Amino acid sequence: MRDFTLKKYEYLLQAIKNTNYPTSTVQDFLKFAPEKCIILRHDVDRAVKRNLEMARLEHSYGIKSTYYFRHVEETFKPEIIRQMANMGHEIGFHYEVMDKANGDPKKAIEIFREELEDLRNITEINTVCMHGNPLKSWSNRDLWQEYDFKDFGILGEPYLSIDYNEVLYLTDTGRTWADLNIRVKDTIDRTGVNATGTDLKTISSTDDIIRLILSERTPRICLLAHPNRWCDDFRGWARELAFQNIKNVGKAGIVWYRSRAQKSRNCGV
Ligand SMILES: [Zn+2]
Repeated sequence: MRDFTLKKYEYLLQAIKNTNYPTSTVQDFLKFAPEKCIILRHDVDRAVKRNLEMARLEHSYGIKSTYYFRHVEETFKPEIIRQMANMGHEIGFHYEVMDKANGDPKKAIEIFREELEDLRNITEINTVCMHGNPLKSWSNRDLWQEYDFKDFGILGEPYLSIDYNEVLYLTDTGRTWADLNIRVKDTIDRTGVNATGTDLKTISSTDDIIRLILSERTPRICLLAHPNRWCDDFRGWARELAFQNIKNVGKAGIVWYRSRAQKSRNCGV
């Protein structure tokens, strides 16, 4: 069976249901800090209908997760956002305001205020999570070096508010769960992750994730799945795969270029 299909995702949900892991949204994790849980997080980057399908699938298993919506035409769909919120999913704001403001934090915070308000006119928003754009030299979360999201009534930001020494963080970025160096923006400090007893080198497919979950050895896991990458329709799936391969080549180039620039800086060149 092909990986990264909705069917495969359903097997993952069934695996969770066969364990003692409760699932958690991001906001509930921040509020209640359970000792054992699987946090389910999704970034709604594009293909909003695939997000809705994944949300329905989770709902059919009584699972609530967090969907971070970008404020762009393709994903800002009030009717769909409302439907997902009504299923009990947490809706969050996937902000990219530093990109929109060309790296100017003063402009960016104003855009943040307006876009957050737009989302809050649809449903309640308690957490925000940055969108990563590998082509930009800044990161959207840089905004919080000058401002405080708590002033906006925001409880937390998964990249800043979760301690990944205590939560094993796994993402499908790049259409694999493996911890590859193709990730430009989606990187976190991994120090201590192996203290959870997980050998990350053994993980790349969804079946590997399922095995990890069934073993119940890792108390806290955060899974980030981008629903636009998970589809059953073969043409969509093949297009996703091709698109991802092109992106990975591009990203590998950026990582290579940056590490090279870093090296030359370190050598004082
Ligand atoms: Zn994103």
